[in-house]
Amino acid sequence: MLTIPEFIPLQSIKHLSNEKVLVDLLRIDQFHPIVSGNKWFKLRFYLEEAIYQQKNTIASFGGAYSNHIVALAYTCQQYGLASIGIIRGEQPAKLSHTLQAAIQFGMQLIFISRSSHNEKEAVKKEFGKESWYWINEGGYGLSGAAGASTILDTLDATSYTDIVCAVGTGTMMAGLIKKTNMQQKVIGISVLKNNFSITQEVNALLTAEESNRNFEILHAYHFGGYAKHPAELLQFMNNFWEQERIPTDIVYTGKLMFAITDLLQNNYFTNGSKILAIHSGGLQGNLSLSNGLLNFK
Ligand SMILES: *Cc1c(COP(=O)(O)O)cnc(C)c1O
Repeated sequence: MLTIPEFIPLQSIKHLSNEKVLVDLLRIDQFHPIVSGNKWFKLRFYLEEAIYQQKNTIASFGGAYSNHIVALAYTCQQYGLASIGIIRGEQPAKLSHTLQAAIQFGMQLIFISRSSHNEKEAVKKEFGKESWYWINEGGYGLSGAAGASTILDTLDATSYTDIVCAVGTGTMMAGLIKKTNMQQKVIGISVLKNNFSITQEVNALLTAEESNRNFEILHAYHFGGYAKHPAELLQFMNNFWEQERIPTDIVYTGKLMFAITDLLQNNYFTNGSKILAIHSGGLQGNLSLSNGLLNFK
């Protein structure tokens, strides 16, 4: 079984830190070569629940480059559970690296047409069995948020004024909000275009008291939408690599670090701010790029 490391590297981002603001990066991308990042934190309580309910198979949804799917395949194998990935789209002639890895970890893949992916309940009825435990796409849900909140158990985060993370389903952000106090602010960088319902989806994972804490989701850094990666983003990621030797990904953490850099330039943060950025991992998305676009992979 996987355990949470007691210590996760915390790295100062020197070129963004100065006498006015400090930026530290929590490298949860580094804690495991395969289940890098937030996915393991989001999955852990679902897997415990499934075992408690004596299920033998975990099923979930995802796309061809889903960090969630590969993390699920790997962790299920570790726990001795079977895993099923319901994958959006027709089965391609050549599977993505992500899906190949998932199969290697014992996952069975089922491809469904794009439209029917929206009818998840119908899919569950059609394919599901009594012995299966279902996890929402991306691990969205209360147990996912509870798991994600344990990201902040790995360090003393109380001295940070701002905690900044990338937002897909909002599960990780909800988890972080759960662990903050009234003096702290959680800032989420939405990676989907105009996904304004996300605030409601985050709130649905919070208690009334937690909903009153200080948090904000910013919508200006999606670069055109989910997994969209114009040259400006790639160039930023290459520069960030040259300056800090830290890899980021086109889907989440590249946009996150771009946003933080831009917010600093626009004096979004007050003097004396101490910013904790979450490197949530997930370098899978970069595998969809053709060679040579990134100076690292
Ligand atoms: C999945 C993922 C996210 C998004 O997490 P949510 O809880 O869905 O908002 C952020 N960063 C990385 C690297 C991810 O893989």
